[in-house]
Amino acid sequence: MRVLIIEDEHKIAAALKRGLDREGYATDLAYNSDDGLDAALSGDYELIVLDRMLPGSLEGLEVCQQLRTNKIHTPIIMLTAKDNINDRVAGLNAGADDYLVKPFAFEELVARMRALMRRPGEALTTVLTAGDLTLNTTTYEVRRDGKLITLSNKEFTLLHYLMRHQNQVLSKNNIIAHVWDFDADILDNTVEVYIGYLRNKIDKPFKSPSLIHTIRGFGYRLGAE
Ligand code: CA
Repeated sequence: MRVLIIEDEHKIAAALKRGLDREGYATDLAYNSDDGLDAALSGDYELIVLDRMLPGSLEGLEVCQQLRTNKIHTPIIMLTAKDNINDRVAGLNAGADDYLVKPFAFEELVARMRALMRRPGEALTTVLTAGDLTLNTTTYEVRRDGKLITLSNKEFTLLHYLMRHQNQVLSKNNIIAHVWDFDADILDNTVEVYIGYLRNKIDKPFKSPSLIHTIRGFGYRLGAE
């Protein structure tokens, strides 16, 4: 899951990035509204954390409005130092999906992020399934045929992305855009290498048919058929 944080207070931004990286998200930072809007318009993010008071030519509410006007429907959590009903209503009217008042507990942000990133069909469950493979987005447990599989953060993020988009062919560029942040050292074979790590853990040790498929010339697809 790739997340964009638009927040001018470097300390808060850095703390959020550290925490989210540890949770297995790929996180990019923007410190003003213009850079934030540019990055968000790329559509590469699963979620945007947007501070309300920002330096730059727009304030947070306007960034939100611009994104919705440009048909970017990425879920947005707005952060604010203010806490009154009018502010909340203004944020939600501008197109934000949720609202968090500073100071907040990191766990609360993560819980709200998870709630927003659930797809409609996932509303009641946080377990994604493909054949006999399951991934729990709350406990981070991955199991195949009931056996617990230990993954690194990045392997988990990659598998989570593949499972959310199962049976779709995903190009290398698409995978990079959603699983790695801007500062990551991406080599030509980074995606292949990580797909290889995943295969070694979720496919090779098991007798059931492979779940990760290479679509030559296009990319990869995860699915039980
Ligand atoms: Ca601010």
